[in-house]
Amino acid sequence: MSKENKPLLVIKNITKIYDIGDTELEILKGINLTIEEGEFVAIMGHSGSGKSTLMHILGLLDRPSDGIYEIYGQNVLKFDDNQTAFLRSKIIGFVFQQYNLLNKMTACDNVALPLIYSGGKNRLEKAKQLLTDVGLDDRLEHKPNQLSGGQQQRVAIARALVNSPKIIFADEPTGNLASTQSNEIMQILTDLNKKGISVILVTHEADIAQWANRIITIKDGQIISDTRKNDFVKATSSPLKIKKDSSRLSMMEFSENFFSAIRAILANKTRSILTMLGIIIGVASIISMLALGNGAQQSLEKQIKSMGTNLLYLMPGRISVGGVSGDVVRRITLEDVNALAENTELVKNIDPNVSGNAQVVYGNKNTSTNITGVTPVYQYMQSSVPEYGRFFTNTENNNAAKVCVIGATVVKNIFGNENPIGKYIKINRKQFRIIGILPVKGAQGPRDGDDKIVVPLNTAMKRLIGTKYISSVSVEVQDGKIDETQAYLLSTMLARNKLNADKADAFRIRNMSDMIKMLSSTTKTMTMLLGAVAGISLIVGGIGIMNIMLVSVTERTREIGLRKAIGATKIAVLLQFLIESSVLSLLGGIFGVILGVLISLAVSKFAGWAAFVSGSSVVLAVTFSAGVGIVFGLWPAKKASELSPIEALRSD
Ligand code: ADP
Ligand code: MG
Repeated sequence: MSKENKPLLVIKNITKIYDIGDTELEILKGINLTIEEGEFVAIMGHSGSGKSTLMHILGLLDRPSDGIYEIYGQNVLKFDDNQTAFLRSKIIGFVFQQYNLLNKMTACDNVALPLIYSGGKNRLEKAKQLLTDVGLDDRLEHKPNQLSGGQQQRVAIARALVNSPKIIFADEPTGNLASTQSNEIMQILTDLNKKGISVILVTHEADIAQWANRIITIKDGQIISDTRKNDFVKATSSPLKIKKDSSRLSMMEFSENFFSAIRAILANKTRSILTMLGIIIGVASIISMLALGNGAQQSLEKQIKSMGTNLLYLMPGRISVGGVSGDVVRRITLEDVNALAENTELVKNIDPNVSGNAQVVYGNKNTSTNITGVTPVYQYMQSSVPEYGRFFTNTENNNAAKVCVIGATVVKNIFGNENPIGKYIKINRKQFRIIGILPVKGAQGPRDGDDKIVVPLNTAMKRLIGTKYISSVSVEVQDGKIDETQAYLLSTMLARNKLNADKADAFRIRNMSDMIKMLSSTTKTMTMLLGAVAGISLIVGGIGIMNIMLVSVTERTREIGLRKAIGATKIAVLLQFLIESSVLSLLGGIFGVILGVLISLAVSKFAGWAAFVSGSSVVLAVTFSAGVGIVFGLWPAKKASELSPIEALRSD
């Protein structure tokens, strides 16, 4: 269908009312106007008469409060965001008094910007050609702040022309310029009009208005005069085709958005780094904290497992016997141990121990260490099968043989790098042959678990310590019988000593599973504590990201307004910000993971703590930070994209 008989634009009864607090300001009071294709119109009036307000409505940067607006006969006020963006892009070029160039971009990129949204090809060549046409071929790579006012306005005109529009709206284009520069700008506009582009110009200067063919005067929101200077020959208009399905983004638009997001990140390095810093700190802290918590838990669990999980320790306790002052100690004998061992339903293995300190001499070296007399089953119950040499046998125990198995610390103290197996040492002046080395246990609480010598029980009782009594009994319990066995040990010992149940304190029984429960609850508390600290730092990091994102998008509301004014759809604006915040968050997340791993490694190396970086903590930290970055980057961008272009441009 042809629109050849329709005028370029028609407005009927346009009003604009601003709400300021409780009063309403009626700025446009019913404007009727028809402009034909090819006209050069100057709108005149005093400052505050409503000229800019009218221009913004005509340029689809703002909406009227009421009235009808038709372009080529189509009611454009009913158009959706995509169609309106298409008109701003392809039909309308807007030139502002304040130029509204993007300061971070070169003149050439500023001119090429609208082509991103219209999908134009050869963007930079077109921009260069237009800048050459307005006499700026030697200023292509200058940023706006390196150009004079007149040059900036010429860049803005080139930008308005880049999509070959049908109409140029120019709101006081010479308002900030000296008169020679003004004449240059007016000459450019006049030349454009001669090429068939309609020009609508706002000015309050009569000599500027003289360039136009038609002068319309506005006063207090109404047209008071409308005169044509010379006969106007109406140009034949081309039909208007609105791109209908522009909601889907082409691959090219996507990649343009992607690169413009990257350019925006690079153009604002400080801000980008600050944003990333929040993400980096948040991610690094949770990763290193959780790594330390996990590491501590794992090493504790390992230690507990190495102590044996179904062991009970029976030791003499203390009771006060009524009336008699002082404590009476009940001792444990080998006969007691044999009696306890009889119940094989409960007792799997039993290992009576005696212990004491002794002086150990080898050549001219000597050291003081702990001597424990044990039975051969000790090596299995305490996970102490020697890695070098062997443990002693039952025969050696029965014969009270002078053989010993020594711990790594003792080896270090008196042998250094020498192989101790087969050597003889003096323990309390008696010769002992070393037959094995105990596996390394590491620190057990404050004690060094490797600073000890193990000898046969009988040897210790008869030859070293000289005692008939057992210092402690380790009992390995049949599976799942801990409580029963504990009761059995106590009742048997009380019975053998003819004591009543109220004298239960005569014997102490330490239960390993109690210790495990205690220890694992301690590590749980610790991990929770570390997790909480990490969580707090993540939240603090999140607030940092949020702040920077809010500030950075708010300060770019003007940019969003400008992008919309030159043809960006809401979706395109959002996509640009989504890509920007995703790239920032992703980069920050990657650096954060690297930093967190480095911190964990450094702490475990220099402080000797165990650290374990779990995959779930990486996922958690990165998702959270990226989520915060994206949400708080997109949310204000969405708000800004929903403003009318002129509202966004007016914000500061
Ligand atoms: P000019 O003819 O000088 O371009 P404008 O169209 O910019 O005048 O403004 C006309 C009147 O509308 C002015 O009195 C101004 O104060 C008022 N005005 C403009 N924008 C707003 C706004 N966003 N809110 C309230 N009043 C406004
Ligand atoms: Mg104005």
